[in-house]
This record gives sequence, C-alpha cells and structure tokens, in this order.
Amino acid sequence: MRFDFIRPIFASATAAARASRPQCLPALLCFALLAAAAPAPPAGTLAPGAFAAESGVTLRQDDLRVGAVAYRLALAGRGLCPQPFPLTGLLFHHLAEYLPRDRALMVSRYGLDRGPGVLGVVAGSPADQAGLTAGDVLLLVNGAAFPSEARIAAEPDRKRWRRMVEDSEATLEAALAGGPAELLVLRQGRELRLTLSPVRGCLGRVRLARSTQVNAFETGRYVVMTTAMLGFLHDDDELAVVLGHEMAHGILGHPPMRTEEGVLASLGIGAATLWDREAAADRLGLRLMAAAGYDLGAAIPFWRRYLTKYDNFPQLFRSHPSLAAREKIVREEMAAHPAVPPGVRR
Ligand SMILES: [Zn+2]
Repeated sequence: MRFDFIRPIFASATAAARASRPQCLPALLCFALLAAAAPAPPAGTLAPGAFAAESGVTLRQDDLRVGAVAYRLALAGRGLCPQPFPLTGLLFHHLAEYLPRDRALMVSRYGLDRGPGVLGVVAGSPADQAGLTAGDVLLLVNGAAFPSEARIAAEPDRKRWRRMVEDSEATLEAALAGGPAELLVLRQGRELRLTLSPVRGCLGRVRLARSTQVNAFETGRYVVMTTAMLGFLHDDDELAVVLGHEMAHGILGHPPMRTEEGVLASLGIGAATLWDREAAADRLGLRLMAAAGYDLGAAIPFWRRYLTKYDNFPQLFRSHPSLAAREKIVREEMAAHPAVPPGVRR
C-alpha cells in the first residue's frame, strides 16, 4: 500500500489504515439506498431513488464526481499508457461493504447477494451507452457468474474480503479485455441482457473512502482518495492533480510503498529512489491532465496550500520531493502543454 500526499509520514500510515477501512462509506451509502424505494433513474444519474437531502446521496455524488474525473483522465491519456485498460464508467458497490445489520434489506431490495451492484454510471461512458444504471446488479458476464457476493460478505477479514471484491470487479475487466461482453443484469426483479463495449484507456480504478484524514494513495490496484481530501480540493482541476498523480503510480507500475520504506526515507535512506518515483508520477499525472483538458495551473496553488497546511516537517522528514521540485515539474509541463483559452475545452 502506498502512503501518499499526507505528511508527516507517520500520520500517513494512520490515514491509509483509516482510508482502507471500508465500513464507513458503505454505512452512509446504505443509509441512502435503504431509504430509496423509487424506480431507478435513467442511466448517467446517480442512484435508485431521488433523495438529494440524504447525506448518503451526497457521498454517492462524490463517488461519481471522483469516478468521472478519473475516467476522463484515463480515457484522454490512453496514448501515454503502455498497458491498455478496458474503461467502462461503472462504479460498483458490494454486499460486503454494508454493515451486517443492513445486508438483509439490501438483498431483498436490490438482490445485492447475486452479483456486484452498480453504484453509479459516468455519463457518456460505455456503461451509460449500454443502458446500465444505478441499482442494477450484474449476474453474468459472457455466461459466467461472478464470485459469490454472499460468500465475500461472509468473510470476516477486511483485507481478504476487500481483495475478493476487487477480484470480482477484475472478472468483468478480464471479460472485457477481448472486447464487448454480454451481461445478464438484474433490475427491479427482472433480468435483462445488455452488451457492454469498453473503451481503451489507462489503468483508472478509483475508490472514495470516508475518512477524516486528508489523503490519497495507490494500493497497486486501486487509487483510493479520502472524503477529507476531496473536501480539501477547490475544484475538478485540483481533483485531477491528485488523481492524475496517483493513477500515474499505477500506470508506471510503481510498487506500493511499504511503511518501512517511508520510515527509512524519512531518515534519508532510499529517499532518492522514492523521490524519483514521485517526480515521475507528478510528471505523468500532469500529462494526463493536459490530455484531458484540465488546467495544469491548478497544481502549484494546490501543492502550496496542501504542503503549507499538512507538511510542516523539514525535507529530511519527507518521502516526497520538495515543493520547489514539484513546482519546477509543473512549470516544465505547463510550458510543454500550453493552456487552452478560457472556456475552451480540448
Ligand atoms: Zn506519490
């Protein structure tokens, strides 16, 4: 697991541990989904039911916002990524992510024990075009079942069931690697068949974790951003700075940083290697942003604000490049990718 963005590194370890504690976010999701009995909305919208006043809906809107920016970066940056990844625009939720007391209702209402559930769909994405919508449950892909959600939910070890959930999502990715896939979908008690045609992009799996720690990191499979980090960001350009950096770690195949590496780096041992990786992730992240039409100029004020608030330690105690080093990278990339005129999207 990579501990990223938050300083000092000892706090980052705590943040990563909290961020990967999954029950927080689903608990709120559950709150909204349990309250929702209305018919599912059209594709491209958020969730079963319209409960804008519910805090859970806000979180799902946040999920979709993060998912949409990651999707845009991954799609636009495909020419920069050596390994193609099948993008769908699907955001999932799973029975295991709900508190045990809420699971029976999720099963009776949505059939969430029968397959991975659709939490949201990025507008205009392949999932949207295929007709998938929030509240759907995927039953089969190319005639094959997904790993049992009930069995995953019965696994008490958090790390194990999280891995099983990721494997379930990887089942779909594997089917899509060869092109379009036929899906059998459960929607409001009825089964329907849909064809999902992915688009080629960069590795772009993201997950929003509810946490009071301002952090984002890359696990080797997923970029995880905390709700506190999302709240710290001013706009989608800053969101793209953070997501682009973390996605770049995954695209570049950087090994997830181990805690002890961070500790050693804080003492100056092996720090150069880590800084090289961070600089490379900064650079590729900015190039993804440029390809997607985001404002690279958002990076410097973001780093200044972030490091002023969360990085009061001297360089020796950091596992990341200095602010000056980061700003130099941003300026170089801005020069290489001139800004688009205001109001004009690439
Ligand atoms: Zn990093």
